[in-house]
Amino acid sequence: MSAPVRIGAVAEMQAFSRRVRAAGERVGLVPTMGNLHEGHLSLLRLARARCERVVASIFVNPTQFGPDEDYAAYPRTLAADLAALAAVGCDVAFVPEARELYPRGGGGGDDVTVKLAWGQDRLCAARRPGHFDGVLTVVARLFNAVLPDAAWFGQKDAQQALMVRRMTEALRFPVEVRLGPTVREPDGLALSSRNAYLSPTERREATALSRALAAAGAALRSGERDPERLAAAGREVLAAAAGLTTEYFAVVDPETLAPPAAVGDGLLLMAGAARLGRARLIDNQVHRVAGEAVHDALLF
Ligand code: AMP
Repeated sequence: MSAPVRIGAVAEMQAFSRRVRAAGERVGLVPTMGNLHEGHLSLLRLARARCERVVASIFVNPTQFGPDEDYAAYPRTLAADLAALAAVGCDVAFVPEARELYPRGGGGGDDVTVKLAWGQDRLCAARRPGHFDGVLTVVARLFNAVLPDAAWFGQKDAQQALMVRRMTEALRFPVEVRLGPTVREPDGLALSSRNAYLSPTERREATALSRALAAAGAALRSGERDPERLAAAGREVLAAAAGLTTEYFAVVDPETLAPPAAVGDGLLLMAGAARLGRARLIDNQVHRVAGEAVHDALLF
């Protein structure tokens, strides 16, 4: 398949999407920070199946990194990314300079920040102050820059997906927010650009997160309905992993991101975050509970 058209300017990106829609076709967007892997590509394939034109944005968004986080070190692999986009039939690579999305530098002059009250003080938001403000701010700017009909996000970043969906509804963006399942390595580790930070030893220990989710999921399937005991089953696995520091392992209601009093019918989100060497790893599993039955599920 041919290489995607590379666009850097917001005005040109908007003109492209307007032309597509004038022709009666749909634009699908997959926002990324680049260093593309099969997780990103799976979202692009989902977009491809529903939209005549597919745009991948590649932008390492400075406003979602905390001062002590890995903005400078984040892997930037544009040439390989463009080749990967060609292979999945992506039409446009939107690769803006920071000034295109933050025209006055994102500081005092144009510091418009999207803050969603929902989800703050829960899961990752509690450990990364300001992170989701940065995410929602850039997603809002990307929606305005790309003008997509639909946008795909990974369930791997469950809290992000839930917050993006709520922000989209609250601000009435005419964008359908859709979700794709988490893509994993054969041993269970969720694909992530940050896996590249792991040493070979750490890489082996990194499966603890998906093993913790499996243990908590097994307890749920065998009838355990106490959220604290389910979480304890996961934490036990994490505690046994050498070199790994648990940030949190929680069993929550996706409507509140707080633990339910007792697990009832409906969706249940099990999510964890851990530090391992230079990497901060996150993973989650969503279950649909219906009486005694438990099935893997998507959040939406
Ligand atoms: P990132 O480049 O890490 O900002 O991720 C861009 C998009 O890809 C986000 O919507 C992520 O949730 C999604 N994504 C990242 N890793 C995975 C994965 N392993 N499986 C599915 N989607 C993913």
